[in-house]
Amino acid sequence: MGDRVDVEQHRADVAELLAPLAERPVEEVPVGPDVLGRVLAQDVTAPGALPRFRNSQMDGFAVRAADVAPAAPGTPVTLPVVGDVAAAPGEPEPLEPGTAVRIMTGAPVPDGADAVVPVEDTDHHTFNGAAGTPAATVAVTRSRAVGEFVREPGSDVAAGAVVLRAGTVLAPHHVAAAAACGITRLPVLVPVSVAVVSTGSELVPPDAEPGPGQIWDANGPALEAAVRAAGARVGLRVSVPDEPEIVRVALERAAASCDLVLTTGGVSQGAYEVVKDALPEVTFRSVAMQPGGPQGLGRVGGRPVLAFPGNPVSAQVSFVVFLRDLLRRAGGLPPVDRVPAVLDGAVGSPAGRRQLLRGRWVHETGAAPRVAVVGGPGSHLVASMAAADVLIDVPAAATTLDPGAEVTTWPL
Ligand code: AMP
Ligand code: MG
Repeated sequence: MGDRVDVEQHRADVAELLAPLAERPVEEVPVGPDVLGRVLAQDVTAPGALPRFRNSQMDGFAVRAADVAPAAPGTPVTLPVVGDVAAAPGEPEPLEPGTAVRIMTGAPVPDGADAVVPVEDTDHHTFNGAAGTPAATVAVTRSRAVGEFVREPGSDVAAGAVVLRAGTVLAPHHVAAAAACGITRLPVLVPVSVAVVSTGSELVPPDAEPGPGQIWDANGPALEAAVRAAGARVGLRVSVPDEPEIVRVALERAAASCDLVLTTGGVSQGAYEVVKDALPEVTFRSVAMQPGGPQGLGRVGGRPVLAFPGNPVSAQVSFVVFLRDLLRRAGGLPPVDRVPAVLDGAVGSPAGRRQLLRGRWVHETGAAPRVAVVGGPGSHLVASMAAADVLIDVPAAATTLDPGAEVTTWPL
């Protein structure tokens, strides 16, 4: 069959069709659990300095470093304790030379004090249980340099400096930084919304008991998972019978509410190819690859639509080869790099079609990891695919590959 389309050509055509999806709108999400996993759309700057004010890094005594310069275990310096500063609202009185104030971690350091002596380096040893009026004096047994254990304003981040970079995939530690800066909302990319439409009169939903000739819908849940893993979201998931009018209505409805419509099934050479029948305006072609040869691309209701074949292995391979990186890129995520590997055994392959075989890493002590074929080439072999780590990419021209041959793999 000379009219098969090359895999790279189809990849390029899909990329062109979906190029507008890369222009993501931005939305503001409250700082908290709702931002988890979202991708920051812009650099975010600190509205003010962090720390906000000069504060103590230790529980101890705020002093002038010069006053305790001679202090050592054998020659302590004793100072009057003139106050007590907790991490609490308020501003402490300035510190007079030759005095000390008891101070807690995070409490504002009084003007005039330029160092904090940790409680362990004094005759108090610890403050445990010693709330209330502090003792009248403190004997300091170790000197401290100017600035020691004093956190300067802006030493974490200066006012106006970038605190979170565009492209960050937000996690709890990013929430901590935003919240500490008093930022209440973060600008994140609106994920691509995908409609997943499984076709097949034989399909039943996960919670139903299949009757004769019926099977559970594997593609709906699997593609929903794949879409989510690629940083997009599923706006709609439906399963429709092989009736062109019903499929047409479902696809138009999907197009009205989502950025991209994804179908499975009904695109090969059988007698009941419902997606082909329902979408006369879409291009259906045979791509020179296995599995995943029959593919469709075009528009429905003005939205891009990709039609994947129905066999669950074909649908997953189609997603990995044609869509995964485009969705990731649109969502601000890096592509999944293909990985070079060395074949563990021989592979035979029909000429003229790129094979994407299921492969598993083989680790042996002292040797570089190699990749072995797992299961057969059948595109219905879902359990075999579940045992795979990668797709092994066998070039269209290859008919046999020897053990030790170098191949490219697509991580699953
Ligand atoms: P089709 O491309 O519609 O001819 O489907 C090819 C094969 O994949 C048939 O054996 C279908 O029963 C099967 N199939 C199609 N869609 C699904 C699905 N969503 N889940 C599981 N198997 C499917
Ligand atoms: Mg079908």
